[in-house]
Amino acid sequence: MKTLLNNNDLNEALNDISNLGFIPTMGSLHRGHISLIKKSLKECEKTIVSIFINPTQFNNKKDYKNYPKNNKKDLLILRRLGVDFVYLPNKRQIYNSKKKSKININKKDKVLCAKYRMGHFEGVIDVMNRLIRLIKPNKIFMGEKDFQQLYLIRKYVNQKLKFRIISCKTIRDKNKVALSSRNLLLKKKELIKAGKIANSLISFKKKLKNKNLKYLLNKKKDKLANIYNIDIEYLELRNITNLKKTNNIKNSKIFIAYYLNNVRLIDNF
Ligand code: AMP
Repeated sequence: MKTLLNNNDLNEALNDISNLGFIPTMGSLHRGHISLIKKSLKECEKTIVSIFINPTQFNNKKDYKNYPKNNKKDLLILRRLGVDFVYLPNKRQIYNSKKKSKININKKDKVLCAKYRMGHFEGVIDVMNRLIRLIKPNKIFMGEKDFQQLYLIRKYVNQKLKFRIISCKTIRDKNKVALSSRNLLLKKKELIKAGKIANSLISFKKKLKNKNLKYLLNKKKDKLANIYNIDIEYLELRNITNLKKTNNIKNSKIFIAYYLNNVRLIDNF
């Protein structure tokens, strides 16, 4: 595995690859990331993983500072998997060359996390434009765990950059908690709680019919908040093709964001 630290390294290493798979990450790798990487290794001639904790997508300084970092362990995982390249840029590598980009997300897309995390997706889209321009991948592998991110990247990342996005299923632990680097910030007790919340929403979704949806969702939100003593930012049913609120369970998902002891968790079912 080649470690690439700057743009010269990138240009040299990636020249002449006709089917390059790319997995952008913020590190602290877990089985969720690994599933994306394995898919790329299977489908692509070469695979590159980036590890970059992008400062511009954090709307909260403390969250950025506390974001888990495990570079040594990550590199070991990537080497064992047989990844061809790991790209470890610093902030200067990514943000020096181009002045701040203006990303305009439509008002109708400012829902869910885009409503509650001001500037978050603008930062994500900006860094993705920059990474894609540098790496020029053919396929990008991304997780449905961050469904809205996937949706907005498909919609807003510069379409002139030719690539395909491959969406990958959410990987969960044995208690059905979606794996996330942020889970490292949770105590065991809190992880168990997150598992109960996930299980509860999975069976709730299964039972839903096209009747009283709004009422049932509100009731569920109150119930979860009370039973688990959590602060729920949103619990909404939305159509997966346009992320509009819906009263039809066909092509829909339940989206949730909540705080467990100051750690913000998101999921969809
Ligand atoms: P992150 O390092 O959190 O920025 O995530 C990097 C990529 O891994 C994103 O495309 C995420 O959607 C994906 N990912 C994170 N957690 C999971 C998971 N539990 N299952 C599948 N993909 C995931």
